[in-house]
Amino acid sequence: MEREVRVRFAPSPTGPLHIGGVRTALYNYLLARKTGGKMILRIEDTDQNRFVPGAEDYIRESLEWCGIELDESPWKGGPYAPYRQSERKPMYMQYAMQLIESGHAYYAFDTAEELDEMRERLKAAKVATPQYNAITRATMKNSLTLPEDEVKQRLASGEAYVIRLKVPRKEEVRLKDMIRGWVMVHSAAIDDKVLMKSDGMPTYHLANIVDDHLMNITHVIRGEEWLPSAPLHVLLYRYLGWEDTMPEFAHLPLLLKPDGNGKLSKRDGDKLGFPVFPLRWTDPNTGEVSSGYREAGYLPEAFTNFLAFLGWNPGTQQELFSMDELIQEFSVERIGKSGTRFDIQKARWFNEQYLRAKPDSELADYLLQALAEHDITATHEKAEKIAGLMKERVSFPQDFWQEAKYFFIAPTEYSEKVASKKWNSPSVAVFEDFKNELPTLENFNADTVKELLTAILERHGMKLGQVMQALRLAVTGAEAGPDLMHIIEVIGREETAQRLGAAIDKLSGYATT
Ligand code: GLU
Repeated sequence: MEREVRVRFAPSPTGPLHIGGVRTALYNYLLARKTGGKMILRIEDTDQNRFVPGAEDYIRESLEWCGIELDESPWKGGPYAPYRQSERKPMYMQYAMQLIESGHAYYAFDTAEELDEMRERLKAAKVATPQYNAITRATMKNSLTLPEDEVKQRLASGEAYVIRLKVPRKEEVRLKDMIRGWVMVHSAAIDDKVLMKSDGMPTYHLANIVDDHLMNITHVIRGEEWLPSAPLHVLLYRYLGWEDTMPEFAHLPLLLKPDGNGKLSKRDGDKLGFPVFPLRWTDPNTGEVSSGYREAGYLPEAFTNFLAFLGWNPGTQQELFSMDELIQEFSVERIGKSGTRFDIQKARWFNEQYLRAKPDSELADYLLQALAEHDITATHEKAEKIAGLMKERVSFPQDFWQEAKYFFIAPTEYSEKVASKKWNSPSVAVFEDFKNELPTLENFNADTVKELLTAILERHGMKLGQVMQALRLAVTGAEAGPDLMHIIEVIGREETAQRLGAAIDKLSGYATT
């Protein structure tokens, strides 16, 4: 019988979620929804030294913002609760014991100093990667080298110990990755990983495998950085007798720096001026603030569409996909093997597309919000008209204010460049007439304004192209913008006449020719 697809996103609450992590969550979610399966979130908090307060809430809020819905999670619960590993602590020891009993794991009593000594010794002997493994374990203090009585006595006296996996010396570990095909690793490259720590907590490796098994996970989709651990995980499944139901693995390609050299880091974002986190994050220890996509003005649907394309493509020219369309089209087979170069311009492009697709009435709300912050009131109708005129010119909701503030505030400064090139006496003569005749218009709208201006220009023996830039400068102070006649219609005839008068005064120095 086909198993129900169950995928999990398993972040550790050690800080804000990197966008690479959000992409992992997204791909898991898409597969779950596409197959009618379940999306699970498990918090992997076994490393208490790295616990960061607020990180779990941050993860939750980030996923909610992106529209990634969870079927089972620590805050929603579910049939396999609890979903925080720290709350599952009592479950893990029995599996470590099972491994000890079957001869696949052992107790180790080495102190930190003894481990350091071992590494020093191996380094001196020119061993490239000194590690606790099939060879070195024979020289260390563990239940394989110490007499049985002594082991019992050490355990009984409460001495600190860890439990390590006994990795075979010579064995090829094979693993089929859904993206990379067969991956082969020699067991000599794997060290005797600690499974249970001296504080009684399991390590990531043991807890992750036990939980994936107990939670009936069918597919493990995670970042490429976990590929080196995968053979070890295969050994754990085998030794625990769970190979039959071992999940399928898919290791996602790395997100690369914009120049393609190496993994995208927070530092790249800081240096190049883009966020690497979905939401703004304030480090609870240092107070350092890192920017987020949400606060930078990205729409969640644009952000997720952008993320989906960082490693996956539909195999067609289509780029704009709603979440439902992504679910329809997604397949793990179409995830690339090689790293994906990060391109913030593309993220911006997606945002522009999604903004422009919104109805003007919704865009008007962005503008009204900014207006309120500046103590300016406007009718929704007016804001809607302006939003409609400006939407081709904005990348982010907050741009509406920057781009459109001249609708509400008369210019006080004028572009020196345009003024020196385009402001001249013949134009001023046209503007004087225009200003005086505006009140005579019966119907005031973009069309009648244009007719009036054309008629005046004809009288002066001039053409529209000769005055347009100067007129725009006088009315808006800007060098470019949407159709000027529509701008004038929105600004109104009195205000336009006033602005013209002010510009004629202020720019008189240029009108010498
Ligand atoms: N806790 C691991 C992480 O933080 C999960 C890795 C996995 O998905 O197996 O990325």
